[in-house]
Amino acid sequence: MLDAQTLRKDFPILSHQVYGKPLIYFDNSATTQKPRCVIEKIENSYYNVNANIHRGVHFLSQAATEAHEEARQAIQQFLNARSSNEIIFTRGTTESINLIASSFTDECVSPGDEIIVSVMEHHSNIVPWQIEAAKKDISIKVIPMNDNGELLLDEYEKLFSNKTKLVSVAHVSNVLGTINPIKEIIRIAHEHDVPVMVDGAQAVPHMKVDVQDLDAEFYAFSGHKIYGPTGIGVLYGKEEWLEKLPPYQGGGEMISSVSFEKTVFNELPFKFEAGTPDFIGSTALAEALRYVENIGMDNIAAYENDLLDYATRRLETIDGVRIFGKAPNKGAVLSFLVGNIHHYDMGMLLDRLGIAVRTGHHCAQPLMQRLGIEGAIRASFSFYNTHDEVDVFIDGLKRVIQML
Ligand code: PMP
Repeated sequence: MLDAQTLRKDFPILSHQVYGKPLIYFDNSATTQKPRCVIEKIENSYYNVNANIHRGVHFLSQAATEAHEEARQAIQQFLNARSSNEIIFTRGTTESINLIASSFTDECVSPGDEIIVSVMEHHSNIVPWQIEAAKKDISIKVIPMNDNGELLLDEYEKLFSNKTKLVSVAHVSNVLGTINPIKEIIRIAHEHDVPVMVDGAQAVPHMKVDVQDLDAEFYAFSGHKIYGPTGIGVLYGKEEWLEKLPPYQGGGEMISSVSFEKTVFNELPFKFEAGTPDFIGSTALAEALRYVENIGMDNIAAYENDLLDYATRRLETIDGVRIFGKAPNKGAVLSFLVGNIHHYDMGMLLDRLGIAVRTGHHCAQPLMQRLGIEGAIRASFSFYNTHDEVDVFIDGLKRVIQML
């Protein structure tokens, strides 16, 4: 078992106080805190290796290019992708999904075709498809779930037709915590010859993800949710698919030659990386991945599981609590409501006790509609959270309930 107390010391912000109380940071699904090595990597890059990459003959540009491309290789290894050509740097999960929604539907979809998503998707895996659906006259089918928050695979199978062109689903739900049976979902899609895009925003920070083992065509995640910086993320795509798709944006870096008569696009991965990339963020992300790999993804998953079990057991002792998401296979997310208390009021009062939780619809309004609620409180955990913090949280919750 990892030692959370020791690891906490790597995160300067965790020793902060808010309103005179020790900060208890339970908003890790929204973004994670950064270890010192990541913060120092960013600082060090600006101090020592800041120059625009790929085009420069000078020393600094070559050093920055090397660091950026090494970061790509680190991400390739982290995901166990076959080639670094399969790793595209984006701004985050949202941009990765938008890229595929745009490029895939441009190339592979005709009017009348269908895309499958699930009822538990984040808006970033719904709205990009709706935008393309409206432009290209395609429709979106939705995989339903049961009351525990598990996708109904029988119903999923029934959604396929000869018009189905892509399945796009979350690996782990940001509200319910459900770890979807993603390999099975991919296998079923492949039986119908349909490629799969996976939103891995809530999976990659919490468990080992091997893209070759999963066999998805596309997989996305965000740097800031895995202890890396904001503004950088990754799109993994199988090389043969990325070769086939048109560029998403045009500009510098993504071309091999330009004339007013004819422009030739660059090879992978640069074809999808128009403009100056975030070469500071990429190296800091690689540093974050090294950091979690040192702890061990399996150790992180085991620790967070244990913490989730403990927090769930303690939360269940509170009268009138309703927990949303009761799948047996669940990530470290607890969404709930207590009686008729408004989630916003509860979140505000918990904040006064130094406890940071998220309230609201969590960018999943269709899921809220399915659950018959407007919003919920969400506590989401990291390996740096402790059982003691859970105790303070539960005690704080009891006080807040009494006040309300
Ligand atoms: N998908 C899921 C499941 C998420 O939880 C989030 C972030 N809350 C996103 C996508 C979007 O990630 P980002 O804002 O980093 O692009």
